[in-house]
Amino acid sequence: MTAQVPGPSVAGRNNAAKDTTMQHAADYDTGNVFARILRGELPCVPVYEDELTLAFMDIMPQTDGHALVIPKYGAADLFSLPAEYFAATLATTQRVAAAVREAFAAPGIMIAQLNGAAAGQTVFHLHFHILPRFTGVEFRMHARDMADRTVLETHARRIRAALDNA
Ligand code: 5GP
Repeated sequence: MTAQVPGPSVAGRNNAAKDTTMQHAADYDTGNVFARILRGELPCVPVYEDELTLAFMDIMPQTDGHALVIPKYGAADLFSLPAEYFAATLATTQRVAAAVREAFAAPGIMIAQLNGAAAGQTVFHLHFHILPRFTGVEFRMHARDMADRTVLETHARRIRAALDNA
């Protein structure tokens, strides 16, 4: 399937498949925000897309450059994601994390992935957080302050440029 992602063209975007029906696990809630982004019902600020994955900016970033990577498969957590999608999601996480590191000249990159409300998960479609980190700089509260879309666009452009140069 292909997500209908508004915004500028994305490095690696795959427009070949037009199937809008996403496969999902039995216990998956298809109404969550990331499912809606994948269906093109909600906008996002994309940085990378391929046949199996999508990466976009977190709308309430905990650091500048906070990006998310999701599989194009409906799985609430890592326990219900098929291995093929898990491998693809990890590969995209590695690729986008390298671009975030370059774009923000970050000496550290934090990867986070939460499973279950008890672990702090708030959106029940598996995702990896990518956060640039700097010594002595704390990150902001989780999922609290909405960022300005133009700022997210600027950050996404920097990440896409780094992906283009990779
Ligand atoms: P979780 O708590 O599930 O690990 O993380 C969910 C993340 O999704 C949070 O960091 C939150 O800021 C982000 N988020 C929630 N709603 C939206 C949305 O509509 N668009 C985007 N781009 N990010 C979202």
